[in-house]
Amino acid sequence: MAFTEEQLAFRESIRKIVDKEIAPIASKIDQSDDFPHELAMRFGELGLLQLWVPEEYGGPGGDLTTVCIAKEEIGRVSLTASALCANNSMGLILPVLNFGTQEQKEKYLRISAEGKSVCAVAITEPQTGSDVRSMRTKARRQSDGTYILNGQKNWITWGGVAQYIMVFAKTSDSAGPESISAFLVDTSLPGFKLGRQEMKMGRNGAPNHELFFEDMVLPPDSLIGEEGTGFLSCMKILDLNRPTVAASSLGLAQGALDTAIEYTKGRRQFGRAVSEFQGMQFKLADMAMKTEASRALLYSVCERIDAGDHTDLAKMASMTKCFVTDMAMEVTTEAVQAMGAYGYSKDFPVERMMRDAKLNQILEGTNEIHRMIIGRALVK
Ligand SMILES: Cc1cc2nc3c(=O)[nH]c(=O)nc-3n(C[C@H](O)[C@H](O)[C@H](O)COP(=O)(O)OP(=O)(O)OC[C@H]3O[C@@H](n4cnc5c(N)ncnc54)[C@H](O)[C@@H]3O)c2cc1C
Repeated sequence: MAFTEEQLAFRESIRKIVDKEIAPIASKIDQSDDFPHELAMRFGELGLLQLWVPEEYGGPGGDLTTVCIAKEEIGRVSLTASALCANNSMGLILPVLNFGTQEQKEKYLRISAEGKSVCAVAITEPQTGSDVRSMRTKARRQSDGTYILNGQKNWITWGGVAQYIMVFAKTSDSAGPESISAFLVDTSLPGFKLGRQEMKMGRNGAPNHELFFEDMVLPPDSLIGEEGTGFLSCMKILDLNRPTVAASSLGLAQGALDTAIEYTKGRRQFGRAVSEFQGMQFKLADMAMKTEASRALLYSVCERIDAGDHTDLAKMASMTKCFVTDMAMEVTTEAVQAMGAYGYSKDFPVERMMRDAKLNQILEGTNEIHRMIIGRALVK
């Protein structure tokens, strides 16, 4: 797809921010593993936390393509920062926009538009990973319309720093998908407790926490969509957001490829630059082809979704997420190889990119689950 003038100008403005404000702190974010509060607030000022809030609610009016452009550009230097960009999408904007009442849109989208809130999404539990329906967290409706929330989630990204968390919980004892509902939970309410922070391989600076909900009283307007529609809404939101995970991975691949090209042009062995060896050029060529093919897939799917074509949404979203994140794992690993010991060194970003790339094959549905979704759609 060809970008419009407006999209190209947006990409250029993000590139400038990336080079000036994000590239210089990317390695520090990884090594300190601290949540970059200042960057989050800066993203809020720039409209990047809340990119997908429509203009009618005071937001920047971005769409899937815009979000992917921003995430790809930022992903070239940092997956942590790329994930933080459009942070409000999954935890607030997409559920409220697609399933909220007019009052909820007025209230929550305007809060998001201010760019001061960090959000999170809580689906996973200690016994609930790929099998979302097996969740145990419960929300019981009271006669006054409030809900009492009890349960535990884990691995929740930004759960320890979020003002709002989209929590999925069971509102009935049935085992079917109609037992799950979605709640926008204000973390300042009593009964919200943080558990341990997960120790992990990569995407440092995007902290993951265990969360506990202990007799938390949720006001009636916390329920997003009808009671019992949470599972389906969760699937739709995940589908809509999945291409953005691919965009971050595409950025990682491009960043690793650029670093490898620069390095191999400067590194001399056997009397010449290692980039002059045909064996190295073939490696770089493969990396570049796969990166470019991924870009074509990603933005063509974005164009379709932004045009309102949701036929095959689940299949196309899964294909994009699975293909591009697998590609990024391969390309970042090859970048480390192309740079030898220096690829393995923390003096260069490619070892971090390789560690970070691994995560996107696991979260928002493992790539095995995506292959299942694609396979089922093909033979149905
Ligand atoms: C850094 C990080 C951040 C995360 N952030 C969040 C977050 O913000 N919110 C949230 O809710 N969750 C989050 N998660 C959790 C993530 O979504 C889950 O890890 C993911 O859904 C997979 O669940 P699981 O890890 O329990 O794996 P499991 O479901 O236990 O799967 C284990 C293995 O079995 C495979 N498998 C499972 N079922 C099948 C099947 N039917 N066929 C073939 N293979 C199968 C999987 O692909 C995987 O390889 C995060 C995870 C990580 C690591």
